[in-house]
Amino acid sequence: MKIEEMIAANRADCSGCGACANICPKNAIKMTRDAEGFAYPIIDPELCIKCGRCDMTCPALNYEAKTIDALPPTFVATYPNEKILRQSSSGAIFTALSEIILTNGGIVFGAGFDKNWHVRHMSAKNLDELKNLRGSKYVQSPIGDVYRQVQDALQSQPVLFTGVPCQCVGLKNFLGKDYDNLLTVDVICRGVPSPALWECYIDTLGYAHEITHVNFRTKRRGWGKRMDINFSDQEHKAERILNNLYGRLFLRNLSLRPSCSACKFRFPNGQSDLTIGDAWGIKDFAPEMFDSRGVSVVFIHTAKGEKFFEQAGLKKQQVSFADVVKRNTFYISPAIADSRRKEFFDDLAENNDWFAVMQKYYNQDDETNNKETDAKNAAAFKESFTNVTAQIRQNFEKNILVIFTPTNDNEQQIFVNFLERNFKNCGVYLLRPGKKFPMIFIENFSLLKFSLKKTDELTSFVKQYNISEIFVKLPLDFGKNSSMVNNWLKNCGLPAKTFDKK
Ligand SMILES: Cc1cc2nc3c(=O)[nH]c(=O)nc-3n(C[C@H](O)[C@H](O)[C@H](O)COP(=O)(O)OP(=O)(O)OC[C@H]3O[C@@H](n4cnc5c(N)ncnc54)[C@H](O)[C@@H]3O)c2cc1C
Ligand code: SF4
Ligand code: SF4
Ligand code: SF4
Repeated sequence: MKIEEMIAANRADCSGCGACANICPKNAIKMTRDAEGFAYPIIDPELCIKCGRCDMTCPALNYEAKTIDALPPTFVATYPNEKILRQSSSGAIFTALSEIILTNGGIVFGAGFDKNWHVRHMSAKNLDELKNLRGSKYVQSPIGDVYRQVQDALQSQPVLFTGVPCQCVGLKNFLGKDYDNLLTVDVICRGVPSPALWECYIDTLGYAHEITHVNFRTKRRGWGKRMDINFSDQEHKAERILNNLYGRLFLRNLSLRPSCSACKFRFPNGQSDLTIGDAWGIKDFAPEMFDSRGVSVVFIHTAKGEKFFEQAGLKKQQVSFADVVKRNTFYISPAIADSRRKEFFDDLAENNDWFAVMQKYYNQDDETNNKETDAKNAAAFKESFTNVTAQIRQNFEKNILVIFTPTNDNEQQIFVNFLERNFKNCGVYLLRPGKKFPMIFIENFSLLKFSLKKTDELTSFVKQYNISEIFVKLPLDFGKNSSMVNNWLKNCGLPAKTFDKK
């Protein structure tokens, strides 16, 4: 099937990554905006020589879902640089990584503003230019000929490419081979709104007052979801993203690209070295790492990604994959479009006054509809989560369970690292003295929380996950909890081995 046929059959297949336009040797493909304002490839038949390179490069046409054989090591982290942290949307990991590349004579690619506050992909060759790439821009960032620029730069210098997951896959398909000097970082991606909608919004504000600064994620009141727009006449528009005309349509999934609700490039189908996002809900799973100026989550996919992550001078802590994705569902599960999406874009297509249409849907924001969308998103996440856990279990050759009681967080980390290195398929039952709920991890994937008193749950866990061996490491002074654990072990009928012998 050809890209044009694919798009005619289902527009949602095309993410607008621009790989086809970049690869075309005759520049026969123009990424052209449709009535919704999203760009799709249009081929000029006069220029096309039918070489087929666009079809061979398209990530959607050549898509093969990956199977999960291991979960990526998952960290929460911040770049301990007060100023940069405040200017970044999350924990400033993007800047920390960029600085390594730039100080080694490299170049960084990412989404920046042009002079009209429209967004597009561009490069930064030094720390000054990097400022414009810092911070999330919640709009689709046109790639232009940036993949070609990356390829050129790779001939002579280190390159960091950042973008949404479909752009990282687009770049990899375009390049067609690995480069040692290329680091790719994608962001957790809820989805991207129409660039034409953003341009209408910001241009309309700009008619009345000259705009001097836009920040989709200001930290004026700390890390959260607030937007800032500054004007030259001292006017200042600061509000929660949900209360902003453009922002609410984004967060309600009304203005997203069709491909985003059917996204093929979330975990496990991304192709970056690292994925970065917000460590939402961190107080619930790593409270000691909370920072009111922002904290990132980082998923490590490759040895190269790990090397850069280690070099970046970050404050960091390893956490459970599941603890993160349960609070940040868009890493594994797509955003379900609001049920009014089609009506909204049809209205835009029929009206010249887009600002007025945006206001109409902003004001219509009704609770019943939101609850419905929230419920659909929760159901979609549950399905993705079940799928991920099922795949992990399928790939287990042998499941073991480790019952362990760390005396502090540091010991816990050392122990979990040790297990990860030494056991391929490892369930870890962490009993934390003084904590109400110990946790079970499978390859760092926390699945269940047990009450110390529920003997039967351990037995059913052993059956459910086909556990073949149990290793125990308890402190000597575990008191009456020791006999409780001994009772569990007796009940589930598996001999307990001491951990040290393994
Ligand atoms: C459209 C979009 C949706 C997102 N959805 C989520 C989400 O659901 N959950 C979550 O945890 N995090 C999400 N993020 C990521 C998050 O907002 C931060 O960008 C990320 O945590 C990086 O933060 P930082 O502090 O390390 O660096 P920052 O300096 O804040 O981040 C800048 C980085 O984001 C990239 N970027 C910014 N805008 C765009 C864009 N429009 N297209 C492509 N790349 C862009 C830049 O190239 C740069 O790499 C989203 C980001 C975008 C752009
Ligand atoms: S077939 Fe070849 S020349 Fe034609 S649009 Fe595709 S890449 Fe360009
Ligand atoms: S390469 Fe990207 S932009 Fe081109 S058709 Fe495929 S998905 Fe769409
Ligand atoms: S949700 Fe998927 S298709 Fe949409 S921008 Fe993000 S990575 Fe691309």
